[in-house]
Amino acid sequence: MKCSGCGAEMRFDPATQNVVCDHCGASKDPFFAEEQCRIVEGSHGESYLEAEVFQCPQCGARLLSTDATAITFCSYCGSSVVLEGRLEQEEKPDYIIPFKKTKEEVEKLYKHKVSRALFAPSYMKSDDVVSRFRGIYMPYWVYSMQNADGLRANGKVEERHGDYIYTYSYLVSADYDAEYKGLSYDASSVFSDSLSEAIAPFDVHDRVPFKTAYMSGFYADTRDVKPYVYIDNASEVVSKDIAGKAAGHPSFGIHGATANEVEKSVRLRTDHTGGYFPVWFLATQSRDKSRVSYAVVNGQTGKVAADMPIDFGKYLLGSLILAIPIFLILAFAVPMTPLILSAAVVVFAIASLILANVLLNDVYRRENQLDDEGLQFAQDHSEDKAQYKLYGKFSKEKAPGKIKKTWKVLLGLAVVAAVIFLNTQVRVAATASDMWIYGAAALSMGLNIWTFFDIVKAYNQLTTRKPPQMGARGGDERA
Ligand SMILES: [Zn+2]
Ligand SMILES: [Zn+2]
Repeated sequence: MKCSGCGAEMRFDPATQNVVCDHCGASKDPFFAEEQCRIVEGSHGESYLEAEVFQCPQCGARLLSTDATAITFCSYCGSSVVLEGRLEQEEKPDYIIPFKKTKEEVEKLYKHKVSRALFAPSYMKSDDVVSRFRGIYMPYWVYSMQNADGLRANGKVEERHGDYIYTYSYLVSADYDAEYKGLSYDASSVFSDSLSEAIAPFDVHDRVPFKTAYMSGFYADTRDVKPYVYIDNASEVVSKDIAGKAAGHPSFGIHGATANEVEKSVRLRTDHTGGYFPVWFLATQSRDKSRVSYAVVNGQTGKVAADMPIDFGKYLLGSLILAIPIFLILAFAVPMTPLILSAAVVVFAIASLILANVLLNDVYRRENQLDDEGLQFAQDHSEDKAQYKLYGKFSKEKAPGKIKKTWKVLLGLAVVAAVIFLNTQVRVAATASDMWIYGAAALSMGLNIWTFFDIVKAYNQLTTRKPPQMGARGGDERA
């Protein structure tokens, strides 16, 4: 927005909640400021913002802006590129939660968080990187749900009197008025659900009618996930909650009607609105630029979520410093009999086996975007035809290659087991057999440590991501 006094670019200031001019000090209430772009009425009563949409030539992410300022790096893939703008129409949100946290506050919150991450790479803490925080209004779908009918459930109570079991069957019904408001899900496929959940919730009580002046100095993400994608998930959450609360009531409880039975009778009336929620965003590229890690801050509450990869050099140094005292204690304080040694090795191996499998499973889910319904949706549907589809059933996927990655630990365990077994069978001379056990333990430990490198690598894959690939430029030239 141009300042009417001096012509400089104005910005929405989260501290004062006004649009301010840093050049001459003028300020304005955003609600009374003129709209910053054309607002076009659609044929079904919906409205569109006609604003500049900037697309990243590297990753294809799209950002909406009403300012005349050029965008010189991409907040989604971290590339330093000039984003190209084009006038487009984007659906106007019903309301907006304005930014409350200033950039300075957010930088401080982030620095505090990374300062506690001992093994995080140093570049993540540099002022240069931190200064790249940008405020982006994220499009959200906000659902409200209401129980439409009364609740009813079949209940069964069994009583034993002497040699007889009496079964009482009931049909319990109740009037139950429940209304849920403000269940929100991000409507952008670039914004990962795991980050979105990490900085939730937003308080929708702070929402105000949408005015483009709130966007001055900020961007908005484009909305590319349809409202029905999250309806199943939201309905399930609400149905379970209603059923749980109702079944806790004595009239259901003493008649043996369970929450599961009650849930079947929940009929929901759903409604949704679209809002812009404030998120501070920072994307950092790994040194070889193949991965990106994100830091996001809730622009309303200041809640921080950040990917914290581990720097291999720092990790090695840290482990070494930790390993020396442990080694000394073990070497001098504990009498190291072959039995204690092999027991310790087995415990260690099982622990790293569990850790490796949990992490590798998460990596698999993340890499295949099984943890992101919005992105899953955007990839499945270039056009939207289906009215309802089942999502969220992905958690039972098996991760292939887990055994392949943990073969080292398994081999180590097998060697220790084999040596102990042979030892009890063959009963060779005591000293010689001890040597075998020590050897097997050492081999197993070595294989374990090797697996630990895989674990760190897997962890780093989890705390960094593939840069978004939102399709080549011009893919939607139809419009
Ligand atoms: Zn001015
Ligand atoms: Zn990009």
